[in-house]
Amino acid sequence: MENKVKSRFAPSPTGVLHIGGARTALFAWLFAKSHQGECFLRIEDTDLERSKPEHTQAIIDGFSWMDIQFDDEVFYQSDNKEKHLTAVQQLIDSNQAYFCNCSSERLDKLRTEQQKEGLKPKYDGKCRELGLIEGSDTVVRFSNPQEGSVQFDDLVKGVIEISNNELDDLILIRSNGSPTYNLCVVVDDMEMSITHVIRGDDHINNTPRQINIFRALQAKEPVYGHVPMILGEDGKRLSKRHGAVGVSEYQQLGVLPEALKNYLVRLGWSYGDQELFDHEELISKFKEGNINNSPSAFSIEKLSWFNKEYISKVDSELLLSQLSNMNSGFSEDEYSLSVLELIRDRCSLMNDFSKESEYFFNEVEDYDSKAVNKFINEQAVNLLTELLEELKNIASWKSHDIQLSIEQILSKHEVGFGKIGLPLRIALTGSTNSPSIDKTAEVLGRKVVIERIDKAIKVFS
Ligand code: GLU
Repeated sequence: MENKVKSRFAPSPTGVLHIGGARTALFAWLFAKSHQGECFLRIEDTDLERSKPEHTQAIIDGFSWMDIQFDDEVFYQSDNKEKHLTAVQQLIDSNQAYFCNCSSERLDKLRTEQQKEGLKPKYDGKCRELGLIEGSDTVVRFSNPQEGSVQFDDLVKGVIEISNNELDDLILIRSNGSPTYNLCVVVDDMEMSITHVIRGDDHINNTPRQINIFRALQAKEPVYGHVPMILGEDGKRLSKRHGAVGVSEYQQLGVLPEALKNYLVRLGWSYGDQELFDHEELISKFKEGNINNSPSAFSIEKLSWFNKEYISKVDSELLLSQLSNMNSGFSEDEYSLSVLELIRDRCSLMNDFSKESEYFFNEVEDYDSKAVNKFINEQAVNLLTELLEELKNIASWKSHDIQLSIEQILSKHEVGFGKIGLPLRIALTGSTNSPSIDKTAEVLGRKVVIERIDKAIKVFS
C-alpha cells in the first residue's frame, strides 16, 4: 500500500518519559493506528552529553507499561549519521548549502546591532556567495529561499504561512562536524518515509525551516499536526514544580496504565461527552474525535477520577494479582479477595489499597486518640462487653447476623446505632474510618473480632 500512514514519536533521551511526551506519543500512535498505519519510536540520541541509555530504557519501559507498541525496531538517530552527512553534501552540491566561517564575535555583534534596531536576530548571509571551502572553523549553513513563503495546513492549527525572509540560513553542520537537530529530523523523517508528524507545538517554529530542507532535498514534506502543551493548574507549562511529571512516577503512585492512557488522551482530545474509552475504542474513535487547539491543564483529581473508574471495572482476580505483586499486604487467597471486594470502592489509586486495608493484615496497635476521646466512655465499654458475649455465641458469622446482634443490644438499651457502631469500629480498625462495620467484621472473621473487642475493652476500661 503506497499511501499507508506512517507517524513517529521522536524523544530525546535526556530525562524521564514526561507525561506531556507520552501524550504526544499517544496522539501520534493513535493517529496512525486509527488510519491502519504504523507508528515508530525514534530515539534522538545525537546530543551525546545529555543522552543516557537509562533514559532510553525508561522511555521504552513506559510505553510497554501503557501497552503502546511501536512498529518495527526502535530507530536510533545516531545510527543515521552517514545519511545526515550525505544529505548535506547533496545540498552543498546543488548550491543550497554553503560553508560559513563567521566568528562568534561577529555573530554576537550582528545580533546586538539587530536587536538595537528592533529587528529579529538573523544571520545576514555574509558567506552565502563567497564560495568558501571547508576549513577547521567552518560550519555548513542552509541557503534558505529568500523569496516567497512556506505554507502548510496543520492538522490541529489549520493553515500556517511564514514568509521566507523571517527564516534564517540555519546551521546544518557545526564546526565540530556534528549535524544539527533540524537537519537530522528531516533526513530521518525521509529515511523512515514518515507521512505524518504529530508533535508538540513547541516545535512549530521549526516546521517551516524543515519544510524548506525537505524541498531542497527534493522530497515531499509530511503532513504536520502540532499538539498544544499540557499546562499545570496555574496555567504555566507543566513542569516538576507542579509535582510528578514522569510516567514512572504515576506508575509508582498506583495509577493504572489504562487510566493514565485514557486521561492523557482526553486531555486535549474529545469525542462528544464520552470520558471512558478502552484501548480498542481509542483506536476506532480517534479519527472522528477532535484534537483541541488550545492547551489543557493537568489535574491530578481528574486523573484520580479516571483511575477510580478503572479500578471499579477491573475484574477482582486480576486486580488481586496486580496488588499481590505490589508489596501491598495482599496475596492471592480468599481472604485477600474478600478484603479487596469490601474496600475497592474506597480506592482511587492502587496504593490506596494498602492504606485502606491496613487493619485487615495487621494487628491494631494504636487507636485514633481523637476518636477515642469522642466515642469511648463507660457506656461504650459496657455495650462492647455485652456485644462480645453476643458475638461469641452467634450461630452464623455473616454480616446480616452480626448486624442483628448489634441491633438487639441497641433496642434493649434504647440507644442509636453510633453508640455501638463507632466504638466497635475503633476496636476493630483503630479508627472510625472503615466500610460498613458488620461487613468489616464478617471479613475479619470471628476469632479476630472477638480478640480485638476483648483487647479494646481491656485498654479502655
Ligand atoms: N527530539 C525532539 C524532542 O524531543 C522531537 C523532534 C520532533 O518530534 O520532530 O523535542
